[in-house]
Amino acid sequence: MAGSDKKDKMIYIRSEEEIALMKISAQVLGKAHAEVAKLIRPGVQTKELDKVAETFIKDNGGTPSFLGYNKFPASLCISVNDVVVHGFPSRYELRDGDIVSIDCGVKLNGYHSDSAYTYPVGNVTPATRRLLARTKESLYIGVEKATEGNRVGDIGYAIQTYTEKFGYSVVRELVGHGVGQNLHEAPEVPNYGKRGQGPKLYEGMILAIEPMINFGKKGVVQERDGWTIRTVDRKPSAHFEHTVAVRKGKAEILTTFEYIEAVTANTSLMIETSELMVA
Ligand code: MG
Ligand code: MG
Repeated sequence: MAGSDKKDKMIYIRSEEEIALMKISAQVLGKAHAEVAKLIRPGVQTKELDKVAETFIKDNGGTPSFLGYNKFPASLCISVNDVVVHGFPSRYELRDGDIVSIDCGVKLNGYHSDSAYTYPVGNVTPATRRLLARTKESLYIGVEKATEGNRVGDIGYAIQTYTEKFGYSVVRELVGHGVGQNLHEAPEVPNYGKRGQGPKLYEGMILAIEPMINFGKKGVVQERDGWTIRTVDRKPSAHFEHTVAVRKGKAEILTTFEYIEAVTANTSLMIETSELMVA
């Protein structure tokens, strides 16, 4: 889930003990994502995906971070095609050619983890598959900047520079965030920005880095449900997210896509690195 409602401006530095607890939360989250990935295909109702995630998280001792958060009605944000983020699970059945972003958070032992992944459903156009591959790549390009001594702006600059090369645009209204005992903490982590600007990064800061990248123009609108964010031009938007610990030298990714990737390997759900290379 993307942030924009942080009242507490405190930036926390987490101890190794706290980071170890967050990794436990992140493991359950990664496996919950994989349970959802197993079901993604044309014809599945997005509500069914939400139910599976909720059950898995609770069965593994966690609490779905999003359920009830500011009255959000579900455990997953499920955002199809031109929905950028914060879509509600519903009776909508995924269709061949859709893309679907699954965003999930888990609270376990008092600590949240937050991650998102966008899947191609069935036969997706090569241009849209490239949007997914490149948005995923931009996440890792941003993560690389989450090292002590850099600033928050270095992360956004890296993501923006990489994605705009392809003619895509970066959503401005929603941003990444600190994460810990609260789902959304300071600092805000925009996916755009200037090098050397923003809060300084120190080892032990925990950031949810989450590029939201539009195929077309950057403008978004919020629907009357108070949550669902769509692109103004109705073109598709992709979203990938990891929870990351700032470290000296090399950032540490606490969440994981390894369980998702085990499920999607050798299926049309898999996003190939080779798709980055095509013009
Ligand atoms: Mg999220
Ligand atoms: Mg988030």
